[in-house]
Amino acid sequence: MHFPPDRGVEVAFAGRSNAGKSSALNAITQRRALARVSKTPGRTRLLNFFELRVDRRLVDLPGYGYASVSGTERSTWAPLIESLRERESLRGLVLIVDSRRGVKDEDLELVRWAHGLDVHVLLSKSDKLNRSEAAQALRSATQALGGLATAQLFSMTSGVGVNEAQDVLERWLQ
Ligand code: GDP
Repeated sequence: MHFPPDRGVEVAFAGRSNAGKSSALNAITQRRALARVSKTPGRTRLLNFFELRVDRRLVDLPGYGYASVSGTERSTWAPLIESLRERESLRGLVLIVDSRRGVKDEDLELVRWAHGLDVHVLLSKSDKLNRSEAAQALRSATQALGGLATAQLFSMTSGVGVNEAQDVLERWLQ
């Protein structure tokens, strides 16, 4: 697989399709469109590496869900993310979970995949919840994650949690 050289530090971003991953990536990096590092034909739709600065990369994982139970999707997905997992530079995983939906088995599967890495969950679109619903969403997610990951509320629309997420990312990328 044509990944960039395994040097420095990289952080993976993942989430169910439509969870708000692209929006979160852009809000956190404060860019409208990130420049791609690897322009490998075919694979690029599945796994994209973005260079933030020298030897500091974000890896955008394909959105999962919907068809993820289908064999075809799983057979392309699984080997790809297994190769990613073997990279020395992979430091952490940011997982985007729709705050209205909460943490599901498919999300937990990825959290387990990331065993040994730092995992941080962004409970996205929190602007769609009122204050008490948001607090409840955070409690439920924290409980579901059972200490395997940290979690926070996030909204690119209201700006809630953007700084907090940036701090986590910067800490990992140091
Ligand atoms: P992705 O498929 O996970 O990359 O999700 P996108 O970033 O493309 O977002 C999916 C949809 O959710 C789009 O219609 C976004 O406008 C919407 N969305 C993303 N973030 C937010 C948010 O913080 N608040 C609200 N209300 N909508 C959002």
